[in-house]
Amino acid sequence: MNSLGESLPIACPNQKPFQEFVWRWIKAAAGLKADVLFWDEPHFMIYPEQPEADALPKLWACRCPACEDLFKKQYNQPLPMEITSEVRAFKQDSLIRFIQALCQETAKAGLKSAVCLLPVENSSTIKDWSRVAAIPSLNIIGTDPYWRPHQRDVEAYVTRYSRRIKELADRFGKEGQIWILNFRIPKGEEGNIRTALEAGYREGIRNFAAWSYYGAAYMNLKSEDPEAVWKTLSQVYKDLQGRS
Ligand SMILES: [Zn+2]
Repeated sequence: MNSLGESLPIACPNQKPFQEFVWRWIKAAAGLKADVLFWDEPHFMIYPEQPEADALPKLWACRCPACEDLFKKQYNQPLPMEITSEVRAFKQDSLIRFIQALCQETAKAGLKSAVCLLPVENSSTIKDWSRVAAIPSLNIIGTDPYWRPHQRDVEAYVTRYSRRIKELADRFGKEGQIWILNFRIPKGEEGNIRTALEAGYREGIRNFAAWSYYGAAYMNLKSEDPEAVWKTLSQVYKDLQGRS
């Protein structure tokens, strides 16, 4: 729910029924003999905001009854309507606690956990990535620095996030993972896939994943020339494998 109490199409990590659903899902995945469970971009509903600016977002999430109860227990006051520094801290703690539980349950089921953090600065995303990297039962930490069409600084952008992930991975003894954009790529800009992979590789990343299969040809987010996207990705993967 958002701060006005309106229902949103996104689950709240503090909701018991959602947590229980996910614990069941983990058991089902383990029954299918999966190796790694991938926890993709854990976040609350994201509303536009500038974290360092004075202007506060008008709407924020989550303000469901579970969040209200938990906040009251932790801060001994009702969950405010405004997004205060306490609310920001509460949201961060809620996400971290949920990811910790995800990784623990996954490890208990005998599987590895990979978490992908959104490269977006917002009170609804994870701000301090080291809190995730420090989770003992986490195996792989990554991010998805997806560039925009016609973005000029793809190399610098992917380098910055690859470096951040590699540093955390090394510091906490995890494997670093970088996701490569393979959707909504304009025709003629497939070369950015090589630029991004080379940038990540230079920073020491060896675990790459691309979203999505075949340039996302089967989705409304498809690349303009999905075949060229797929061929470029395959070729760069081959070239990088030849190097290691
Ligand atoms: Zn909630």
